[in-house]
This record gives sequence, C-alpha cells and structure tokens, in this order.
Amino acid sequence: MKIAVISDIHSNYEAFISILDEIKKLKVDKIYCCGDLVGYGPDPNECVELIRKNNIVSVVGNHDAAVFGKADLNWFREEAKEALLINKELITPENISFIKSLEENIVINDVLIVHGSPLDNIFEYLFSINALHRNIRCMKERVCFCGHTHQPLVYFEKISLSTGEIVIPTEKKQIVIDDRYKYIINVGSVGQPRDGDNRACFAIVDLDNKTVTFHRVAYNISAVQQRMRSLYLPEFLIKRLEFGI
Ligand code: ZN
Repeated sequence: MKIAVISDIHSNYEAFISILDEIKKLKVDKIYCCGDLVGYGPDPNECVELIRKNNIVSVVGNHDAAVFGKADLNWFREEAKEALLINKELITPENISFIKSLEENIVINDVLIVHGSPLDNIFEYLFSINALHRNIRCMKERVCFCGHTHQPLVYFEKISLSTGEIVIPTEKKQIVIDDRYKYIINVGSVGQPRDGDNRACFAIVDLDNKTVTFHRVAYNISAVQQRMRSLYLPEFLIKRLEFGI
C-alpha cells in the first residue's frame, strides 16, 4: 500500500491542485493530511472542498481550530491573525462544520498522524532535538507524521538507545524505515513552505517496502499572490511565498 502524506495547505489552492496532479501520477491508495487546511492564503473554501472531494483524511491544525473558535486568535502573530479573520469571513458554514469534525489524531496500525506533536497534537512545534526526543519517547506508535513547522524533517531514535538524529530530507531522498528505530517525520508544507524552497512539499510512503520519499512541486505563485492582494491579505504573507520562508 502506498500513501501520500501532505500538510499545511493554508488556503493555497494553486499549490494544492499542483501537488494533487503529481500525487495522482504516483498512483497512491490514500492521501492523509496533517492539518491546517486554512489560514494565511486566499481560498479556504476551494481547499476544504478539494479535501472532501478527494476523500483525503485530515487531522485538525491550529489554524483550522482558530477558524471554528477552538484556538484563541490572540495566540497568533499579527499577520496570521489578520489572515485568519479574512479566512473566517470567506468560509461557508458547511465547510466550517467539516473542519470542526476533524479529529486531533489518526492512528493506522503503527502510524500516528497529527498536526503538531504526539504529546500536544495541535499546538506544539517540533523544532528542537529535545522536543523531538521527549515526544518520541512517549509515543506508542513506531512512526509519527506531522506538519506545523512547514519544514520537512526526519528524526529517528533507536528503540534500545535513547539518542536520536535529525535528517533534513532533500527532494526525492528516500528514507528507509528500519524496524529497530522510531521515527517522527515532518512532511513540510503544501501552501507555505518555510525551508528556503518555494515549491510545495509532500511525502510518499510505501508501507510495504517501508520507505518515505519527499517530493517538491513548483506551482503558480504569482497567481496566488494576485488573489491575496485582491483580498488585502498582509504583504508579508504574500512575499514569503516567493522565497519559501
Ligand atoms: Zn501551518
């Protein structure tokens, strides 16, 4: 069985359709999403509807939670908050109820899917080796897929030891899942990558051969920027798409 794992679409429809085209060519059995369907970008309804149409199974992200009132808007920095208010105005009641119905985590056999971290599913950022170590130690499953930081990363720790290693996965790099290790795998972001590469990011997981491969797809950034300007979204958010930061 082959699955695609995507995350942090953030109302970026152009990026989303571009990666879906690529994923369809790779013939996967199922697509999972680590949340943050909305926020930042101009097209929350189109993105939520594409999730629903393609039967993509998603968990809830912090921006999703803010749109239906589960997360306080004051926790977000100014530009994020402004974009959330615009997203809230645009999104239909039907799509709000869909987002509200998303679970905080999904477990498939030995795989956990969350937005933030195994310990704090919606809000925790896994940037540091300490946070990764603390989380992997408490994790019951063998592999966790997450998003939230918008930076692809693989952290692995040998079960018998308690020290781990971080690998920053490059495009097309294949990571082999070894049974002696536990993994936390951040699949990066579709709609607002922040690792210096402005192309949309996602991962393909081959559950039979136990491999994970990272993919990047270029999309029409200027079209999204134009849409964002027409909605008066913050210039900082418009510019950052170009640089992937
Ligand atoms: Zn996000």
